[in-house]
Amino acid sequence: GTVTSLPQTSISDTLFERAKKVIPGGVNSPVRAFRAVGGSPRFIERAEGAYLIDKDGHALIDYIGSWGPMILGHNHPAVREAISEALAGGTSFGAPNEREVELAELVTRLTKTEKVRFVSSGTEATMSALRLARGVTGRDLIVKFRGNYHGHADGLLVEAGSGLLTNAEHLGAGAPSSAGVPAAYAALTLVVEYNDPEGLDALMQLRGHEIAAVIFEPVVGNAGVLIPTPEFRAALHRVKSHGALLIADEVMTGFRLSLRGACGLLGLQSDLTCWGKIIGGGLPVGAYGGRAELMDFVSPQGPVYQAGTLSGNPLAMAAGLATLRELERDEGLYVRLETYTSALADGLRAAAGEAGVPLQVNQIGSMLTAFFGDGEVSRFAHAAQADTAAFAAWFRGLLERGVYWAPSQFESIFVSGAHGERELESTLSAARAAFALSRTA
Ligand code: PMP
Repeated sequence: GTVTSLPQTSISDTLFERAKKVIPGGVNSPVRAFRAVGGSPRFIERAEGAYLIDKDGHALIDYIGSWGPMILGHNHPAVREAISEALAGGTSFGAPNEREVELAELVTRLTKTEKVRFVSSGTEATMSALRLARGVTGRDLIVKFRGNYHGHADGLLVEAGSGLLTNAEHLGAGAPSSAGVPAAYAALTLVVEYNDPEGLDALMQLRGHEIAAVIFEPVVGNAGVLIPTPEFRAALHRVKSHGALLIADEVMTGFRLSLRGACGLLGLQSDLTCWGKIIGGGLPVGAYGGRAELMDFVSPQGPVYQAGTLSGNPLAMAAGLATLRELERDEGLYVRLETYTSALADGLRAAAGEAGVPLQVNQIGSMLTAFFGDGEVSRFAHAAQADTAAFAAWFRGLLERGVYWAPSQFESIFVSGAHGERELESTLSAARAAFALSRTA
């Protein structure tokens, strides 16, 4: 239906004004500022199940899930209790604790890896895995794919996705994706189009002997959702024949698309894997792992240095343990997530069709992006053609109707186990009304 008055957001607006005076852009991570979609961000008071409750008291159906971690829904009792129990014993030791061993045992068993090292973010995980690959191979060059995002380490901010696509107004073509990244450093990162097996083969033929690692998102979330073709997956496996290590960045997809991540689902075998998000159950955890012969290059066992004051933090380990145990226990969860999200995809396609809005929905498991435009989206170049003004109008229409979608065309949304029939119906009815707005954007 038509909305006659916009929701009152004066408390959020006032907080944003205060925030902008003391925090760059008013936020601690760029996409949160709503630059790409207009309007000012909602400040969140608390979160429960499938909902965020903002400071002005609006309950919003949440499709961000803290950008991935909250696969069980917000404030899940098992996770909350595990954190409380750990909290009673103190918050940080800087010395080994039993929960680190338990989480490492669980992660290596579920993902069929041999050893894992915990860090405190996805950025640290990919940065450390690349250092390890360089240390193992004695080579300097790395390969990444256009529009993939692997955190904000210098060498990875080259043609990067996620917030770099959303706030890229001051960048020239071919430059690193951020000011402050030395050109000499960016020159060590070679970039290939995702889902371009010939391009990858050609680069490996030419420079394969100099390449330490090829890092990739096994399903891309950070250009919007892109799904790797079988031919591209085969080309990824071929990089190993050049002595380069294959690094799967499962920070977003790990434990989300299956207990063995996107690689398990799609039959990909990497040498090293990076995790984040779900592995910490909403607290700051990242990890990287692989075969013992590789991981034993990491200090103090080996010569590749990597450390962290809060690494293996007991509260964070407790949250990760409770989350992964719940995922393992609830066998039907991944099927329910797929059922909900594919129904959402079908409903969006139908609603867009009725409204005469060209829409391409990419969906796999509980990840989904609705690209505003015509034609298949399998490469970054296709995603980049999306109608971002129409998306922004649609996003605002959803938010005004209580649906908190990802505030950028170039992001995945995330469905949780707490999303049910009621949320699906409300989302689709909001989406229908919002498509009518996007047509006139
Ligand atoms: N890799 C991927 C695939 C990601 O999606 C992200 C974050 N969205 C990162 C790495 C970086 O993780 P963090 O934000 O925890 O540093």
